[in-house]
Parts: sequence; structure tokens; C-alpha cells
Amino acid sequence: MIDLLVVGAGPAGLAAARTAGELGLRVVVADENAEAGGQYYRQPGLPGAALDRRQTRGRAVIDAARGVAELRLGCSVVALDPTPTGLRAWLDRDGGLEWLMPRAILLATGAFDTPVAFPGWTLPGVMSAGAAQALVKSQLVRPGRRAVVAGSGPFVFAVADALRHAGVRVAEAVEAATLRGALPHLPSSMRHARRYGELAALVLPLVASGTAIRSGEVVASAQGRDRLEAVRLRPRGRPGAPADANGERVVEADLLCVGYGFSASTELARLAGAAMSVDPGLGQPIPAADAWQAASRPGLFVAGEAAGLGGAAVAEAEGELAAIGAARHLERLDVRAADELASRVRPRLAALRGFAALLPRIFPRPDGLGLLADPATIVCRCENVSLATVLAAVDQGKADSLNELKAATRCGQGWCQGRVCGALLPGVIGARRTGFDGTSQYTARVPVRPVGLAAVVAQLDAIGASEAPSDAGRPTPSPS
Ligand SMILES: Cc1cc2nc3c(=O)[nH]c(=O)nc-3n(C[C@H](O)[C@H](O)[C@H](O)COP(=O)(O)OP(=O)(O)OC[C@H]3O[C@@H](n4cnc5c(N)ncnc54)[C@H](O)[C@@H]3O)c2cc1C
Repeated sequence: MIDLLVVGAGPAGLAAARTAGELGLRVVVADENAEAGGQYYRQPGLPGAALDRRQTRGRAVIDAARGVAELRLGCSVVALDPTPTGLRAWLDRDGGLEWLMPRAILLATGAFDTPVAFPGWTLPGVMSAGAAQALVKSQLVRPGRRAVVAGSGPFVFAVADALRHAGVRVAEAVEAATLRGALPHLPSSMRHARRYGELAALVLPLVASGTAIRSGEVVASAQGRDRLEAVRLRPRGRPGAPADANGERVVEADLLCVGYGFSASTELARLAGAAMSVDPGLGQPIPAADAWQAASRPGLFVAGEAAGLGGAAVAEAEGELAAIGAARHLERLDVRAADELASRVRPRLAALRGFAALLPRIFPRPDGLGLLADPATIVCRCENVSLATVLAAVDQGKADSLNELKAATRCGQGWCQGRVCGALLPGVIGARRTGFDGTSQYTARVPVRPVGLAAVVAQLDAIGASEAPSDAGRPTPSPS
């Protein structure tokens, strides 16, 4: 019997696993990556590779969780399906499907780079900032020789720094925010002066190595014949206005890393039927959570970036709280003991969330990114659908939400299950047409990750064999 299944071994999932394990819960952690750590503690994929400071700390965090919980790595949770006795989780490991009926589930599935579509964004050499970071830190691959990193927020400099360490010449780090826009927020952020020190520790070595630090500009297009040759940048424009095509400039590069914020990974929460609410800061629907990180469905918890963006320290605190909440829900902690434990986490979490709330004000996502694509720009990469096709469907009245667009154009029906186009299309269409539901999402579909046909066939065979009533007290898996 598993008390708690934690989906995701990033900061939130690992903190939850350690806390829940120490409280005596039987915990299984599943993560689709071959290494635990998530985005923040991302570990190298090669045994024996040198670790940086954060990776070394991450190793200790992973070991602490491993001491009290079972870690299943290379293991994707591809479906959650509601049954009369609870949520059943389907796990895909080494091409084989299995299912678990844990007594509680914590979704700590993190976030991914919010994609931005602009002319040339599908050229080889153009990638999300997170992908570039994963290539250098985990795969130990150098993704280019001369890079431009463009985006908003400290992540721009974290990625530029990781590339520099990997031996990539970072020609420019281009931050969309301006010092003038940030000034009004500086006094309230001075309580967190240490964070400015961390930012300076990223920026100064970049400057010393010859990287030009620019602000107030956004990427406009990527140029090249068969792969990236140059990046066109333009002033970001006034708030509420599109980027200004006057004043464009071109920088030669064979690598462009783009990072204009993150989107929460919510597919499993939606599959589980968790109530969602639009996060005002993010403009995206995220699972609603109470003071114990419990979602609307009994026994379902959410923590970390999957429940709203706040950074690694917020994710860890939410993971601890969710574990305490799960122990309370399972009556392994009485209410008083749970309150006492939670009271040690909540003040820290409140302070961390206060800082997290400042970041989007200091580094706001620039307006007008949705207007960068031109009619020929591919907006659904899996199904090769252009912006012109999408807008035609909207103009013909065939689609005023993402699901209708999916039926009309095949957008979102491909390999990534709509993760990429689902995150960018509301902004791209909303910037051009009124009447399109800018908060709509594709209905989450099983499986949320690609599953091999052999695994599906093996399951169908198992269902056939188990059609006789089960005496184990477990529900019989249904073909759905
Ligand atoms: C690409 C990217 C890079 C980032 N880099 C930095 C950085 O350098 N510095 C920084 O301060 N912050 C960074 N962040 C922010 C960072 O996500 C958080 O600070 C922190 O890692 C959040 O922790 P988490 O546990 O919520 O999520 P994550 O660390 O994202 O962990 C989520 C885990 O869930 C797993 N997962 C997701 N879905 C499934 C599934 N269906 N089945 C099994 N496993 C699943 C993922 O493999 C992942 O390991 C980054 C975010 C992203 C998206």
C-alpha cells in the first residue's frame, strides 16, 4: 500500500517526499527524467561528471528524499483516472505500463518555458532558454558557438552564465525589462537585497567575458537559410503596445535562447478533475489549492511551479506543507500536530511568496509578443499549422476556443499533446482577434506523454485477462 505518490522529483516533490517519509508515510516518487532534481537541481546525465554548487546541494536533497522514499526515475505518470475508490495513476517505465492506487497523490510536475512564436523560431539553433540550460547541465552538450539569450527575468542571466561555463561565447544577454520600469519597485524589493547579490554574481562574469548586457529589447525574428545565422531584436515598446519595429538591429549568432517566462504543467491536475482558477500574475489557469496545498479533489495535493510560479524555495516550502497536509488527510497526524508543523513552514513560505510576487513587477513579460508571428509562421510545430490557417478558422467562425481550433485545424493533436501551441496560441490569437477565449485550454487527454504501442497492447491483453470480477478488492482497469 502506498500512502503518497509524488509526481515530480524537483525541489517541491523531493521536499514533500522527505517530509512525508520522515512522518512515516510510505512514499513513491515518480519522475520522467533519468535523474532526480527537477529544473533547479538538474543533475548531469553522465556518472562521475563534475557538479556545480547547486548540483552538489541538489545531490544532498535527493539523497535525503531517497533515504525515506522510493524514487522511480525514468518513469512518467501518463494518466490519472478517477475510480470510485480514488485516483488511479498510470506509470510508464521502460516501455511498460503499470498502475498504482495510492491513498493520496501530490502533483509536483513543475513548469516549462512559455513558447513564443516569431518568424524563424523553428530554425535549428533557436531553442527555449530552459532547453539550452538542460543541454549544457544535463546532457553536457554545447548547443552553439555564439549565442544570444533573450527574455525577461533573472533566468536570462542564469542561462547565459550556464552557456558561458560550457564554453559558449555569449554575444548578448537581452533583458526585456528596463531599469526605468523597475525603479518604482526597487524600494519594496530592498528587503531581498541578497537576491541582487545573486544576480550580480551572474551578470558581472558575463560582462567580464565580453557579453553585451542589453535591456528594453525583445527578439523580433530569427534569420538563416537552413539554420540560425542572425537574430533581429527590437525595442520592446511602451506598456500595452507592440514592440517597436523602428530601431531594429541584427546580431550574428548560431544559437538563440528565448525565455519569456514559464507555464505551469497542469495536465494531470486537469485530468484528475481538479478545480482550476486563473492566476492573475500568470494569466493562466492553475489548480486551486487550500492552505495545505490540497486541490479540490480529496486526497489530491499540488505544490511547486505546477501550482503557480514562485521559484525553487517556494516550491520546497509548498512541498513540505503538502506532505504535512497529506499526513493530516490520511490521519497519520492529528490536527494539532499538523498545525504545529505547518506553523514552522508558513511564515517562511509567506516571505518567499512576497519576493516571488515582486519579480513579475520588476521583470514584466513584455506586451506584444503575441504579435511577432507573421501569417506564414508555424504555430503548431507537431502538426505544421501556420498562423494564417489558425486565423482563417477563427474568422470563419469555426473556433472561438482552443478545443474548437483543435478540431478545425489539427493544432494540438500532435506529439506534444498541445503543450507548446496550447501555451502560445491564446496570446497570439488574442492579440489579433476579439471573441477568442484567451483563457481556454485544450482538454487534457490520456496519455499526457507519448506511450509505446507495445505497452498499450500489453495493457489491453491484461484487461482481457482480468475481465472476470476481481476478488482483490481493486477496481478492474477499464479500456478507457
Ligand atoms: C526550463 C526551466 C528551467 C529553470 N531553471 C531555473 C534556474 O536555473 N534557476 C532557478 O532559480 N529557477 C529555475 N527554474 C524555475 C524552477 O522551475 C523552479 O525554481 C523549481 O525547479 C521548481 O521546482 P518544482 O519542483 O516545482 O518543479 P521542477 O523542478 O520543474 O520539477 C518538476 C519535475 O516533475 C517531473 N514531471 C513533470 N511531469 C511529469 C509526469 N507526467 N510524470 C513524471 N514526472 C513528471 C519533471 O521531469 C521534473 O523533474 C526553471 C524552470 C524551468 C521551466
